[in-house]
Amino acid sequence: MANLYGLDRESLAQYLADLGAPTYHADQIRRWLYARREFDPQAWTDLPKSLRARLASDHRVDRGRIADTATATDGTVKYAIDMVLGGRVECVLMRQRDRVTLCVSSQVGCALACDFCLTGRMGLVRHLEVGEIVGQISWAQDRGDLGERPFNVVFMGMGEPLHNYDAVLAAVRLLTDPNGPGLSRRRITVSTAGLAPAIERMAREPVRPHLAVSLNATTDELRSRLMPINRRYPIERLLEACSVWWRETGERHTFEYVLLGGLNDSAADVDRLSTMLRGRPAKLNLIPFNPVPGWLPYQAPDRSRVIAIRDTLLDRGVAVSIRWSRGAEARAACGQLAVLSELSGAGTIEESQ
Ligand code: SAH
Repeated sequence: MANLYGLDRESLAQYLADLGAPTYHADQIRRWLYARREFDPQAWTDLPKSLRARLASDHRVDRGRIADTATATDGTVKYAIDMVLGGRVECVLMRQRDRVTLCVSSQVGCALACDFCLTGRMGLVRHLEVGEIVGQISWAQDRGDLGERPFNVVFMGMGEPLHNYDAVLAAVRLLTDPNGPGLSRRRITVSTAGLAPAIERMAREPVRPHLAVSLNATTDELRSRLMPINRRYPIERLLEACSVWWRETGERHTFEYVLLGGLNDSAADVDRLSTMLRGRPAKLNLIPFNPVPGWLPYQAPDRSRVIAIRDTLLDRGVAVSIRWSRGAEARAACGQLAVLSELSGAGTIEESQ
């Protein structure tokens, strides 16, 4: 039975047309599913009774199921969500002063195998469907965790969003749909390990999120070692795609740079980074590495080194800030998301929750 949850306007309209029903019902259905979050078609009172019955008998409404939550002392919440088609993903809510950000997953596992990222150790289990992506947000809304004010959504959870391009962009369109959650596209960020052609494709999308590019190294030698995708799209090719982004959209994007002590945090790295970024319409986020002892053989530089790197880059005219991690104690920070039971040797680390 087909899943109604996650269908876009066109598919809903087509379904209604096939039934001989007016297509404006597609707007009502999306309002029920994504704005009011009423998931039982029988309760959709502004639709004709016969159509409600038909929707209920033809379709499932399935957005996954929340299986577990963990809360860190800084207010970060991690949700484990069991997916419609099998598999479990993690989704993280972060609070910073007056801002709430939800970090969502786009795949179960990930194919890119970045060496410093725990999700990379899982390999790709599968792509998520549109409804499985949007569903993660609906669970946080159901729990009342997002509050009343507008929130941000970042595709920085498990998976490489641009590897699951169609579903991720369809989710962006749904999230910004005035008949759905109605988020501004500026509140949505898609972070990529550097799929250059997909960056260029996304630059031409009519509904386009903010772009973040995980740079993480200043030489191809190191970047290829840390991020195998660099062998396919080396730094120069990636920067070219970033230039296309600027040319096509006129919008700045973000670079992310995970700081790995003794590996990519030398004075020479800082020199190369400032040369690379100077004059680019981009801002830089430094992310001190989040450790997962027993799994990832890296460490963050000392706090003072992180601050010194930032200050040097600021002096050289780079728009830079530090993203101090949140939720690390709930194993909810960047690069710490993975379903441990699916990793080989599972159970070797204790959850600190
Ligand atoms: N696949 C996408 C999105 C997921 S990762 C991407 O690569 O951008 C989101 C961010 O977390 C990326 O910038 C990634 O480089 C960073 N990251 C991964 N593992 C990390 C870790 N252990 N500590 C800190 N940041 C990490």
